[in-house]
Amino acid sequence: MSTALGNKIKTLIRTSGPISVTDFFALCLADPEHGYYKTREPFGIAGDFITAPEISQLFGEMIGVFMVHAWQSHGEPDGTHLAEIGPGRGTMMADMLRVISRIAPKLYQSCTVHLVETSDRLRAVQNETLIEHQGKVRWHGSFGELPPGFTLLAANELFDAIPIRQFVKTPTGFRERMIGLDADDNLAFKIGIATLDPALLPEGGLPADGTVFEFAPARQAVMQAICERLHLFGGTALIIDYGHMTTGYGDTLQAVRNHEYDGPLDNPGLADLTSHVDFAHLARTAVAAGAHLNGCMFQGDFLAGLGIETRATALGRDKTDHTRRAIKTAVERLAGAGEGRMGELFKVLAVSSPSVRLEPFRVTD
Ligand code: SAH
Repeated sequence: MSTALGNKIKTLIRTSGPISVTDFFALCLADPEHGYYKTREPFGIAGDFITAPEISQLFGEMIGVFMVHAWQSHGEPDGTHLAEIGPGRGTMMADMLRVISRIAPKLYQSCTVHLVETSDRLRAVQNETLIEHQGKVRWHGSFGELPPGFTLLAANELFDAIPIRQFVKTPTGFRERMIGLDADDNLAFKIGIATLDPALLPEGGLPADGTVFEFAPARQAVMQAICERLHLFGGTALIIDYGHMTTGYGDTLQAVRNHEYDGPLDNPGLADLTSHVDFAHLARTAVAAGAHLNGCMFQGDFLAGLGIETRATALGRDKTDHTRRAIKTAVERLAGAGEGRMGELFKVLAVSSPSVRLEPFRVTD
């Protein structure tokens, strides 16, 4: 059984030969006809996966607290652009704005909200979620369309959805991993011809044949665009995602469908396709683009450092035991360590321009 997008990709391969992982990734998520984000409602219990803002309002609230802190550290500029790339259902921005309006009314009143979203369907959902901030919110098809000005930017689970390239170690060096057809006409991984600059590889000896190395120029380009904007107009960007803090080897391409892992080639267009984010690489890109690196830390430490426990206690006050238990479970899921919890798997990276000190990041220079 092949999906509609699977059949389309097979036709493409029969006509022009194997396609790269990056092209496959892009088609799965964004094919105009059958792409995952074009056709599905991925978020939430009924969808395929749950993101942090959908687990608890505490997540977006802590990001709001961080943004207020960043705004203050930058000297409380007027006319702040509060931006988010890939806002999903708009939940995180709604939770951020509630906190901002309470603890920094001056920021709330003088800011404009900018959502970078390509899907009309999701724009409508975000409009609904943010209805009480109507008039304040603007939508853009790409990050480059944002008007000039000081920017506080957040992106949660954006980078994992930007396609990567994969290379496989062979006896003749690293070769690009491709997707072609096997003898039974099923999609199958193949090894292509393109190679990569060895300077990109992690330090140390070469790994065994068959080892995969992931490289994400498209993610690098987005990070670079963010940092160039910060450099021009000032501001801070907060990037949250799952991934690793050291560049290394390994195949992290993963598909998720109905809250379960699926083979990446099994159901093109019907499963979400992502890969882990190489935060070390993003940090190097940011520094090379002239941004100040505030740091990169575990999501759990970040949320704890911003006071999620205190806020959770306040939220549970005057509530039923059942609600209090649900809040506790949500905090554990967001900030705790180990299987099924996000506290260590997810990392938070902050970059600024000009250089400002931002809690809870440690001073890095
Ligand atoms: N931040 C939301 C949604 C995460 S899912 C949450 O936490 O719930 C990833 C989102 O990023 C999707 O909405 C997808 O459409 C969007 N996305 C992926 N690549 C993008 C790009 N290049 N520009 C803008 N949005 C993008």
